[in-house]
Amino acid sequence: MSPPAVPEPFRWTASPCGLVLECRPLEGIAPHLFTTRDAPLSAADLWRRVGRALDAERVATLDQVHGRDVVTIGPGAPPPAGRPKADALVSIDPSVAVAVLAADCVPLLLADRRSGAVAAVHAGWRGTAAGVAISAVEALERRLGVKPRDVTAAIGPSIGACCYEVGHDVRHAFEAARHAAHLLDRWFVSREPGTGIRESKRLHLDLVAANRDQLVFAGVPEAQIHACGLCTAMHLDVLTSYRAEREKAGRIAGAIRCRAYNPA
Ligand SMILES: [Zn+2]
Repeated sequence: MSPPAVPEPFRWTASPCGLVLECRPLEGIAPHLFTTRDAPLSAADLWRRVGRALDAERVATLDQVHGRDVVTIGPGAPPPAGRPKADALVSIDPSVAVAVLAADCVPLLLADRRSGAVAAVHAGWRGTAAGVAISAVEALERRLGVKPRDVTAAIGPSIGACCYEVGHDVRHAFEAARHAAHLLDRWFVSREPGTGIRESKRLHLDLVAANRDQLVFAGVPEAQIHACGLCTAMHLDVLTSYRAEREKAGRIAGAIRCRAYNPA
């Protein structure tokens, strides 16, 4: 089995948690990875292996609730003992990797090339409607003085617009969250030929485009945002998808560690 082709900024590599995906532009800033089916969530030692792969003493995770709250580790804020309810983790602690889990939702990894600060973000449709990616960049900026223009972002495998049909209720939730209409027209597309977005019964939601646009809105240069372009539902030999596999679906982890912190 050979893994699917990925765009140039990404590469597959072997690690203590099996085959993983890495983003080259992020590599120089912070150790990180996106896991695959090789590292099933049920494996009791998953986080130990992720920690080993990233040279971290421990891995901090969240009780993900599809919101926009961000937990920060350091300065003066040790890693939480349990799993706080939030969807983004920011860290400047080189001994701790921060990780999110996703089955179709978008895992995002961010790193600041100046200070070395990192973030892991989980963005399903609810979190994307809530603007969790913007919230994470704002937390880096407000809590640590990071300039968004210095942030590099990797967008891991998630359900593609190709396979993500949603109802109008989802679009209404995005409208209620006051996203600009011209952006909603980019994020929600009709797949019925000759049918406009209003008349179409079936909409497809492009979560990757939405998160990319939100990072740009937050000030991250578009050229520093790298999406792997892999649809979880179309690569079940390597990835895993809740839409395609339901309760049999595993989870993909996105994890990243601050290599060294250099406050501004
Ligand atoms: Zn697809």
